[in-house]
Order: sequence, then structure tokens, then C-alpha cells
Amino acid sequence: MEDESHVLSRATMPGFDHTNEVETLTQVPNSRVPVPTLERLATYLRLLHDLDQAHIETVSSSEVERQTGINAAQFRKDLSYFGEFGKPGVGYNVPELRQRITRILKIDRPKPVILIGAGNLGSALVGYPGLKEHQFELVAVFDNNYGKIGRPLWNLVIQDIARLKELNDSLKARIAILAVPASAAQDVCERLVDAGIRAILNFAPVLLRVPEGVYVRNVSFIQELAVLSYHLSEEEERERQQNGHNQADMAESHLTTLAAYAAAVEPEVPDRTEAPIES
Ligand code: NAD
Repeated sequence: MEDESHVLSRATMPGFDHTNEVETLTQVPNSRVPVPTLERLATYLRLLHDLDQAHIETVSSSEVERQTGINAAQFRKDLSYFGEFGKPGVGYNVPELRQRITRILKIDRPKPVILIGAGNLGSALVGYPGLKEHQFELVAVFDNNYGKIGRPLWNLVIQDIARLKELNDSLKARIAILAVPASAAQDVCERLVDAGIRAILNFAPVLLRVPEGVYVRNVSFIQELAVLSYHLSEEEERERQQNGHNQADMAESHLTTLAAYAAAVEPEVPDRTEAPIES
């Protein structure tokens, strides 16, 4: 079974005025490729990047399983959506597979990305070198706080959100990272769409309403922590139950031992129910 737990959100109806429902997708529209497959491709790509750096030329599907935790059969199935890969008995050529997945994910050339919200999270993301390494080039950061606008942030200068549309006309970014408070997220989202943004990585803990053709991915490490916490609590519960059973088993075995001991050392007491007291 495919893990369909990670989803892509897209509004069903065009226009903000009419959009209140958000559909949950596990399939990219007009594509036969499920979203979990695309997510796994990104994982394979990270591994291939590391192997390439280490000058390793070929990799087998079982090695991919060992290093990513993704089942070898699943790996082969994911690749099968995109044609023929690898040679039986030889494995996969690392640079070639890396290049093909890069092309599939359309990250074979730099993609301009803008970020809104130069706060704690936004500032950390602007300084994250991994974005550029994966061809996502942060070209502008916007905020509405006049104390921040005009200040440098890493290699960028924080821009006024009021200039978003004007600046993005020339930047031509179609992807945005949203790192503003939840209360401002919908308003900023609408400005982003108006400025030509078509894909939003949303960190704000709110479900955005977007028109058709605009994609949203929600990121929440709190959600991830909650899932981890649930797994742990289930495990703890199992351990508790196991300990409970063990203790019950031990108590029962103590009782059996005590009964055997009592039977061995105590004189037999007549059963009074069998010998009614005579009057
Ligand atoms: P922060 O308060 O430090 O930063 C928010 C920034 O957004 C500020 O610089 C503020 O001036 C700016 N801003 C506010 N309204 C704006 C608007 N209308 N236009 C442009 N800029 C605006 O907050 P933070 O700690 O960086 O968190 C940012 C968001 O990310 C919050 O919604 C928070 O809940 C969320 N968050 C999510 C995760 C996650 O895992 N998804 C983790 C941490 C934070």
C-alpha cells in the first residue's frame, strides 16, 4: 500500500470570493503520478546527490532501501512511472539517475523563490544554504514591519510587502514561502496570488483558500511532533500492558509457589463442609 498521508492542497473553485472548500489531493492534477511518489523522488535525489559526491557510480535498489528506508520494490515502482531505469544485475548509474530525477522534478535549473515574513523562521530559512543547493534561489524577502524593511538579511534586503506585485513583475517568481503569523496568512496569500505566485509553501498554522491552479503545501513540525508523540505513547502503552501481564504472571507464580509450600508444611485441615458439626 502506498503511503498517501502526505497531501497537496488545492482549492476547488476559482476566485477567492467563492472559495471556501479545500480539496485534498494525493495526485497532481492532470498527472498520473501520486504525490507520495514525488516526495520519495526528492528523497532518492538527496541520496543520489550524496553518492555522487562520494564518486559512487552505481547503486542497487536494495542499497537504496538500506539507505533511505524505502522498500526496494517501491523504489522500482516509483521509477516505473517515468520509463526504463537501470540494468538488471548491474543497478542504476548514479549520475544518470540523478540527472533524470532532477529533470522529472523540474529542478534542473534555478527556480526563483520569494519569502514573506522576515521573522524567526523566515530569517533562518533565508540563511539556509540547502535551498540554493537544490536550485531554489531565494530572490527576495518581504515584510510589513517598517523596523525591518530596508535592512539586510543575509545576502538580501528586506522589501516592503506593499511592493510585492511591482517587484515580482520583474523577479518572475512563481513559488513563495509563507512565514507570517496565522492572522496575516490569508491576506498575504491573496497578495501572492495577485503577484503571480502559483505555489505556496505555507508555514502558518492555517488552511489557506486559494483559487484553482494554485498549489499549497503545508508544513508543520508541531504536527510531525504530535505524530511522533502518538507513536511513543502507543509504545509506552504496549510496554505498560506487557509489564502488567508480566506482573500478573509473576504474582500468579508466587501464589502457586506459596500454595505448594503451604501444602507441604501445613497439617491437613479437615474440610468442615464435609464434616457437619453435630449438635
Ligand atoms: P515572527 O513573528 O518571528 O515573524 C513573522 C514575520 O512576519 C514578522 O517579521 C512580521 O513583521 C511579518 N509579518 C506579519 N504580518 C505581515 C504581513 N501582513 N505582511 C508581511 N509580513 C508580515 O514569527 P515566526 O516565529 O517566524 O513564525 C512565522 C510563522 O510560522 C507563524 O505563523 C508560525 O506559527 C509559523 N511557524 C510554523 C512552523 C512549522 O513547523 N510550520 C514552525 C515555526 C513557526
